[in-house]
Amino acid sequence: MKAVRIHEHGGVDKLRYEEVEDPKLTEATDVIVQLKAAALNHIDIWNRRGLTGIEISLPHILGADGAGIVVEVGEQVNNVKRDDAVCLYPPTGCGRCDLCMTDRDFMCLHLRALGERLEGTYAEYVKLPAKNCFSIPPGLSFEEAAAFPLVFLTVWRMLVTNAEIKPGEHVLILGIGGGVASAALQVAKHMGTHVMVTSSSDEKLEMAKNWGADHGINYLKSDFAREVRALTGKRGVDVVVDSVGGESWAKSLASLTKGGRLVTCGATAGANPPTHIPRIFWNHLKIFGSTLGSREEFRQILNFMRTSQVRPIIDQLFPLKEVAQAHRRLEEGKQFGKIGLQI
Ligand SMILES: [Zn+2]
Repeated sequence: MKAVRIHEHGGVDKLRYEEVEDPKLTEATDVIVQLKAAALNHIDIWNRRGLTGIEISLPHILGADGAGIVVEVGEQVNNVKRDDAVCLYPPTGCGRCDLCMTDRDFMCLHLRALGERLEGTYAEYVKLPAKNCFSIPPGLSFEEAAAFPLVFLTVWRMLVTNAEIKPGEHVLILGIGGGVASAALQVAKHMGTHVMVTSSSDEKLEMAKNWGADHGINYLKSDFAREVRALTGKRGVDVVVDSVGGESWAKSLASLTKGGRLVTCGATAGANPPTHIPRIFWNHLKIFGSTLGSREEFRQILNFMRTSQVRPIIDQLFPLKEVAQAHRRLEEGKQFGKIGLQI
C-alpha cells in the first residue's frame, strides 16, 4: 500500500510518501480498514518532531484520525462487518487495568493511540481493534467523518461531561481557528450558550462570527480578560476553554465569574504560567483537565451529529501525497477548522 512514514524525527521534509507493506490481521478482535480520508492534529506534528516523550518505533505511519471501509475482520469481531463505512475512535488501552475495565481506556497508563504507539491513518489501510470502529453518522462524507473524532471527543468531554455547559451560559474560547477551538464553538453554540472567542487574526474572528460566535476579541489589540468583563457587565463568563496556557492562563482565570469552570487540554503557549491561587478559592473556580474521552462519550457525539446536523468545519483538503503542505499549513496556524487528507 501507499503510506506516509517518518524514518527519523524532524521537519516536514521527513514525511515520506512511499510503498509500505499492507497491515495483516494478527488478533481475532482486530479489523483492517481501507482508509478514504484522514485528518491532521497537532499531535501529528509533535510525533513527527519527536516531542511527545513517547518513544515510537521508526519508520512510523502518523495520523490519529481516519474514516473508511472495513475490508477484513478477525474471527471474534461482531460489532462491524466487511463493507461497513466507519469512523475511528483513536485511543485504546491495555484492556486489563481498572481504568480500561470501566470504559476509561483513554486514561490507561499503557494508552496506545493511532499514529502514536499504533501505526496511523496516513495510509491506504490501517489495522485497529474492532471496538474502535463506529458507523459513520448519516450524511457525513468520509472527509467529515475523519475530521471530527479526536477534536469533538476532546471538546465533548471538556464542555459537556466536565464543565456541564447549560443553555444561556457564557463561554469563552481561546485561539479560535484551531481544531479543538472550532469544534468547541460548534458544540457550545448548539448547546444554546453565548460564545466569545479570541484570536490574533481579525479574519479568523470574522469567520468565527459566521460560524455563530457572538463576540470576537483580538488579544493583540486588547486585554481579553478586561474585554470579557466589559462584555458581561463585570460578571465574567461561566466557562473558559483554554488549550493555550502561557500568558493567557492568568487572564483565563480572571475572565471567570464566581463558581466558573476552566477546561484545559493543552498548553501550546507555555506549561508553567504563574497562578494567583487565591483567585481560585475566593471565586470558587473549578479547573478540569482532560485529554480525549471515552467510547460512551464518542457514542454521544455520534448521536449529537445525527440529531443536530452539526458537521466538522473543514479548512482545506490535500491529497495524501501532499501531506507536507498540509503539515506546513497547520504548523503556521493558518487554518480555520480541520485540515484533511484524501486517500
Ligand atoms: Zn489499561
